[in-house]
Amino acid sequence: MANPLTFTVNQRPDPVSDEDRAAILAKPGFGKFFTDHMVQITWTKDDGWHDAKVTAYGPLQLDPSAAVLHYAQEIFEGMKAYRHADGSVWTFRPEANAGRFARSAARLALPQLPEVDFLASLKALLQVDQAWVPDAGAGEESLYLRPFMFASEAFLGVRPAAKVTYCVIASPAGAYFSGGLKPISLWISKQFSRAGIGGTGSAKCGGNYAASLAAQTEASEHGCDQSVFLDSIEQKWIEELGGMNIFLVYKDGRLVTPALSGSILEGVTRKSILELAKGLDLQPEERRIDIDEWRQGAESGEITEAFACGTAAVVTPVHRLLWDGGEVSFGPSDDAGPVAGRIRQTLLDLQLGKVDDELGWLTRLA
Ligand SMILES: *Cc1c(COP(=O)(O)O)cnc(C)c1O
Repeated sequence: MANPLTFTVNQRPDPVSDEDRAAILAKPGFGKFFTDHMVQITWTKDDGWHDAKVTAYGPLQLDPSAAVLHYAQEIFEGMKAYRHADGSVWTFRPEANAGRFARSAARLALPQLPEVDFLASLKALLQVDQAWVPDAGAGEESLYLRPFMFASEAFLGVRPAAKVTYCVIASPAGAYFSGGLKPISLWISKQFSRAGIGGTGSAKCGGNYAASLAAQTEASEHGCDQSVFLDSIEQKWIEELGGMNIFLVYKDGRLVTPALSGSILEGVTRKSILELAKGLDLQPEERRIDIDEWRQGAESGEITEAFACGTAAVVTPVHRLLWDGGEVSFGPSDDAGPVAGRIRQTLLDLQLGKVDDELGWLTRLA
């Protein structure tokens, strides 16, 4: 059990050719293609974290009785690596992801990976796969990083697993919205909740996503892009989307997001927007928001814009809210509103190294 961990590197003999990689990077989509390598670290109750390696990307050997397949003891993170104009590769606030990963681990009774090892795992992968980070260009292309941890012990008894596997895989990502920003419509689900007090809503775990899929189907059936979840007790207070936090923009410059209630995931993007707001002449506010406040504010013109935010899509404008019996539209239907657009550009300029990193939010990976 060494700390910090050192990574063994087993370079694959048959990496994707430069030509094929260039073809993938020209049109990567999202989450479809993966780099040549992955990181894998093993944890056992007896030996702690050990056997840290960078190895060929490929199928994992998993016993059919592996606990994760039965009891969903699994957590993950989502981050991006960005290439700057000088060729260097950076990521955004990885300490925040490391901290959240540790909190998710605690909630799912998984072992905590120290921040130093979490950061080292990203660097180890980027050392060998940095050619997969798209070139700095006019766009917002990046390499999406997906650290995850799951119960790999072969055991059907119900208790925290005594063997756990941590991996990092990476997937080149194009602009989330190809062909310009497309504002989305949201369905207010009364049938499904995402999380409850004391549950796993503030942990980034696969189980939350499994639970959100039926609500996603419900949204689609009503012609909406996604569902917005309300609190599970009163079905009244806005929480978030299946994988993004939400902000409302008021005519008077207030920028309001639901306060972390214990059942909302603390997004790094959410937190960063709150911290940047004052510099953009906005008044950030974290509090409970009644869904009727959104409906009525959009109706009256008090609320001028709304947007969802997260690492994958950065900022996604919302222009329509629908529910059983009604709907309301607000903001432009074909582009981001001025505030959402400004916030999106501010974040991207920072991440892509187009402005000075005065807040020290960037970490160099390669
Ligand atoms: C990951 C995630 C977010 C966004 O978090 P970021 O750190 O900003 O990417 C929001 N809500 C849920 C449920 C998530 O899983």
